[in-house]
Amino acid sequence: MTIAEGYTPLHLWIDGQKLSGGGRDASLVLNPSTGDVLAEMPHANGADLANAVGAAERGFKTWRAVGAWDRAAILRRAAELVRQRAELFARVLTLEEGKPLFESDWEVGAIAEIIEWQAEEGRRLYGRVLQPRTRHGSAQVLREPVGPVAAFAPWNLPLFLTGRKIATALGAGCSVIIKPAEETPASCLLLAQAFADAGLPAGVLNVVLGEPSMISTYLVTSEVIRKVSFTGSTAVGKHLARLAADGVKRITLELGGHAPVIVCDDADIDATVAASIFNKYFNAGQICISPTRFYVQDAVYPAFVEKLTAATAAVTVGDGLDRNTQMGPLANGRRMNAMHQHLSDAVKTGAKLRTGGARIGQQGFYWQPTVLSDVPDSALVMNEEPFGPVAAVAPFSTVDEVVEKANRLPYGLAAYAFTRSATRAALFSDALESGLVGLNTFNVAPPEGPFGGVKQSGYGSEGGSEGIDSYLVPKFVTQL
Ligand code: NAD
Repeated sequence: MTIAEGYTPLHLWIDGQKLSGGGRDASLVLNPSTGDVLAEMPHANGADLANAVGAAERGFKTWRAVGAWDRAAILRRAAELVRQRAELFARVLTLEEGKPLFESDWEVGAIAEIIEWQAEEGRRLYGRVLQPRTRHGSAQVLREPVGPVAAFAPWNLPLFLTGRKIATALGAGCSVIIKPAEETPASCLLLAQAFADAGLPAGVLNVVLGEPSMISTYLVTSEVIRKVSFTGSTAVGKHLARLAADGVKRITLELGGHAPVIVCDDADIDATVAASIFNKYFNAGQICISPTRFYVQDAVYPAFVEKLTAATAAVTVGDGLDRNTQMGPLANGRRMNAMHQHLSDAVKTGAKLRTGGARIGQQGFYWQPTVLSDVPDSALVMNEEPFGPVAAVAPFSTVDEVVEKANRLPYGLAAYAFTRSATRAALFSDALESGLVGLNTFNVAPPEGPFGGVKQSGYGSEGGSEGIDSYLVPKFVTQL
């Protein structure tokens, strides 16, 4: 089968071997901008998964025996290779996910930075020395890697989300089997190549592709796997948590949210609109921390809606490979169906469609950047994450009322508030039930910050010094 220009051949990567063909099932990876086939993706079968588990078990022993300083050197070299190959990575990302090249450029730089961060975290895995109970005794707390990890990543940030899990596990001294999403396997394979070229021993990082449920059931229930990490929908996260519970395995879950944006009457409206436009339509709204429910205070509500609508209508939509594109297509047909459902429901429940609201053309998965105003709490879009380019706006009067609205859903990943008042900012920081709170900013996910949610948005952190903790177990060693 031919490979689309600029894309890469797809294969499993197990114990340092690239595997494809051999009678394995396969499916097609499509370019969401055109609907054209990019490549054929081989599916891991039972024997492949058994090999991957064996490789990860041996890989863990190998990697643990490499000192933290040498592990960090390999991670830093991998980050350097990612930067050197940035153009290739960016093109592959845009081809398989649809995002504009400027976003792919950002994603490549961001993952290089995260790999460097985790390389350094791996050198700072300090334990503790306690007071012994006897004059010549000793008591210490060591922090050890938990063991082989099974990781599952979604399609929306295919390099960033696979790379963050890989880098954190490797920084801690764990081996990994990762499954990237069916839609976006190639960027993760390029990353695996960068790690291999940087000197990562075979078997420490394994990439499996294919049918999610078959692969996750096999890996999560394997005796060898000691930790699971998943990013994706709440429904799948709960399913994996149940599987992991059976084997009493640690699991980190990042399950998205439904981020409220509170715009107070004392906010800088022009700056808030500009930041909202950039972040709302970043990756066509398919980001778990995407600003989604805009609650705007009465006095500035008409002006905010008018400015947000005008700026939204001016967003340039097109093929991500075109450098003029500000927003690309949605990543798959499921998102198109979801947009239709959200829009028809919102209009039915009384929301006003200000701009957008429809599919663009018949080729690829393009949806117009959309603003809905006066959206009632009962509308689907105010309750279920749209995961698409839809801004839902509603007015509020008092701070108490808006805090209640912001906190009313069973999710709590990101929440944002825009105000010039330090008192109000302090109140929001205290009252918002969310793992991430942005005050006058949407930038809540730097490598140095813990990234994770509360309530049904999941548990565990993926960044900061907290991120590496979930790949480590404490061991208390004492001697008389
Ligand atoms: P989905 O739940 O079908 O798939 C999400 C990801 O989970 C995919 O990458 C898929 O490969 C993987 N997956 C699915 N079933 C799995 C299983 N049994 N075991 C292991 N992995 C499995 O969701 P979708 O249709 O792609 O998107 C639906 C919703 O999921 C979105 O609207 C959004 O709310 C949420 N989502 C969140 C994120 C995030 O970054 N948190 C990313 C993608 C999707």
